[in-house]
Amino acid sequence: ETITIQELANRMSERGVDVIKLLMKQGQMHKITDVIDADTAQLVAEELGHSVKRVAESDVEEGLFDTPGEDDHLVSRPPVVTIMGHVDHGKTSLLDAIRQANVVSGEAGGITQHIGAYQVVAPNGAPITFIDTPGHAAFTAMRARGAKVTDVVVLVVAADDGVMPQTIEAINHARAANVPIIVAINKIDKPDAKPERVRSELLQYEVQVESMGGETLEVEVSALKRTNLDKLLELIALQAELLDLKSNPDRPAEGTVIEARLDRGRGPVATVLVQRGTMRVGDIIVAGSQSGRVRALLDDKGANVTSAGPSFPVEVLGFAGAPDAGDRVAVVESEARAREITEYRERLKRDKAAARGAGAGRSLVEMMSQLKTAGLKEFPLVIKGDVQGSVEAIISALEKLNTDEVAARIVHAGVGGITESDIALAEASGAVMIGFNVRAHKEAREASERLGLEIRYYNIIYNLVDDVKAAMSGLLAPTL
Ligand code: GDP
Repeated sequence: ETITIQELANRMSERGVDVIKLLMKQGQMHKITDVIDADTAQLVAEELGHSVKRVAESDVEEGLFDTPGEDDHLVSRPPVVTIMGHVDHGKTSLLDAIRQANVVSGEAGGITQHIGAYQVVAPNGAPITFIDTPGHAAFTAMRARGAKVTDVVVLVVAADDGVMPQTIEAINHARAANVPIIVAINKIDKPDAKPERVRSELLQYEVQVESMGGETLEVEVSALKRTNLDKLLELIALQAELLDLKSNPDRPAEGTVIEARLDRGRGPVATVLVQRGTMRVGDIIVAGSQSGRVRALLDDKGANVTSAGPSFPVEVLGFAGAPDAGDRVAVVESEARAREITEYRERLKRDKAAARGAGAGRSLVEMMSQLKTAGLKEFPLVIKGDVQGSVEAIISALEKLNTDEVAARIVHAGVGGITESDIALAEASGAVMIGFNVRAHKEAREASERLGLEIRYYNIIYNLVDDVKAAMSGLLAPTL
């Protein structure tokens, strides 16, 4: 736990210069933007005649998400599914086809709303919840924030294209999150479809489907012709039974924000996936540094509901401001408690931002010292370049730097601008983000600022390699 001198002075209503003077008397030289640890801050505060009440995260967040012993009443809950796979393999088409096939004719004119998640019913009557943002950007962003939302990943592979880079990425993301995969071989309507080839290619990545003697469930589908969609839903229901998913509906609700926005007419609107308990109109809720009282709950068809139980996605109206996707949501007992939590988190956020402003972000040098402290001898990198040729040249130049003692580890390398997904992956794997002759998309820039994850840009391979080399030899240098 740390604080900047400025923030400490603000909280005590003292002048920053007085804090600096006091530290100087104790032999410490500091600037106003410097970060000091909690113990030093406490000494300073007491020295200046303030009484100190240190609030630990465990106190404020106590009992918010984990109340053991209360979950004795467990009942089955629907599985939550994310669809992943390579671009253009049909993720969006499949999500749309599943939803439309499930709209009961005559039901509110068959109109569905896009709220970020929806629920359908499998042929056996079991409900299934789909996260409506395909791809692993959202998946990994949420995981990087500690939210586990997905129970099952449907891996879409186009039968005419086979296993591609993002297919492999998706497999790795699902595996890292310990979530089972169901393989959906899509576009089997195409004349050049080769589902057999997909199966054998998947073997190389240790995904062994049933027809190849493995245990991974599989189905051939066509999102376009709506072939075998029921079969896919059946498999998901089967996988869910195997997982034996359970949750207690009889407790204050907890969940995760799937997406959130400011709606002109309705104010802040957040789609929340309830994960435990039941959310009701009138509940007092907190998410990230936002709070509010539930004014209305709407389902994925835009209909008002009075409550939402486990695995149920709902639009929540009543937050004072829009929370962030991936924020965890909890119902609390009073507005005072909600205020205590959000104020604490707000302060934490400010402290972190200040610490970053003071240069404590993930720069190459800072990364290096972190890795060194952790005793790691590998240097994780996410690399995006303008063309395949330069990316390959960079990788082979970096591989030449590897020694027995230290090695560059390429978590991911690809062609194109830096995306939000790249940033999320770098964040989740503690890697340095490198752009070669490419820029970062706006969302990626915002994400990197938010996370304090520096993006390093290069246009000369030599400079890039030289920097990494310096950082790697820093890893080897004796700790002072
Ligand atoms: P995403 O990038 O994975 O979300 O892929 P899309 O759902 O946008 O699909 C990419 C393209 O493949 C679109 O032109 C779709 O119409 C087409 N497509 C998707 N599913 C099928 C299918 O089952 N059969 C055929 N023939 N085309 C499909």
